[in-house]
Amino acid sequence: MHFHERPCRCMANAGCGVNVDPALSFLPAYGVAERVAPAIRRLTAGNAGPLTFRGTNCYLLGEEEITVIDPGPDDDAHVADLIAAAGGSIRCILVTHDHADHAGAARRLSELTGAEVLGSAPSPSRPFYRPDRVLADEEMVTTEAGNLQVVATPGHAAGHLCFDLAGLDFLFSGDHVMGWSTSVVVPPDGRMADYMASLDRLADIGARSYLAGHGGPVTDGLARVDELKRHRQAREAAILRALDSGDRTVQEIVSAVYIGLDPALAGAAALSVTAHIDWLEERGLVRKAGDRLSRC
Ligand SMILES: [Zn+2]
Repeated sequence: MHFHERPCRCMANAGCGVNVDPALSFLPAYGVAERVAPAIRRLTAGNAGPLTFRGTNCYLLGEEEITVIDPGPDDDAHVADLIAAAGGSIRCILVTHDHADHAGAARRLSELTGAEVLGSAPSPSRPFYRPDRVLADEEMVTTEAGNLQVVATPGHAAGHLCFDLAGLDFLFSGDHVMGWSTSVVVPPDGRMADYMASLDRLADIGARSYLAGHGGPVTDGLARVDELKRHRQAREAAILRALDSGDRTVQEIVSAVYIGLDPALAGAAALSVTAHIDWLEERGLVRKAGDRLSRC
């Protein structure tokens, strides 16, 4: 789940520098697997929407013994498309995180194919997601497309994982890094301190082309990580300026920081500001007294 923070795309937030244009041209062919690289195909589910862009991307690795990364939403037509498009037998289902648009179909696809579900740790609030085994950070998973290394990237979701296909310079980035939008960080499952550390974690891995959970490939992953870090730093600076000029509640800060915000996104903006405030509080820069906020 994520939303577009409007000031970035419309460039009303000068200095943010986030450029999402390349991913906006993404137009998937629904219901069929499209090849994105040798041994890697992508099938996009038909769950397009304001939180999912053109729909959830499901990746198929290999041709005969297939590994699926993020099976997508639990939808009859989508699961049938996935099995038909796979061609070979689906042997393993990997899950980046337990949001329903990514993990919803995991159990059903497993029951239909016998494939094992491996992935992020389940959270109690999402009982539909029950992996056969939780993957450990830096664990290697063998696929027909090459060895995947598990990269723990909490932030968007507490258990979020990326998968690094180092041999082909691809990294499956889930909802942690996408080209079309920033990731929403919703406390308490999402945590801004973790999200920022997870951006640094990807930067340490080095140059990769990112295959994201929504939208087209992010060919310069490092540049996108840098943009996203600067975006969050600019957002934090704007929040501190709002506090300095007398705003005292999350709602007042949202009004000051998100100029011209679509009312439909007001709730998500408040959650994003709350995640930033939590992180500022953890670093001793902001204090809370009830719903009143102030600089330390
Ligand atoms: Zn998500």
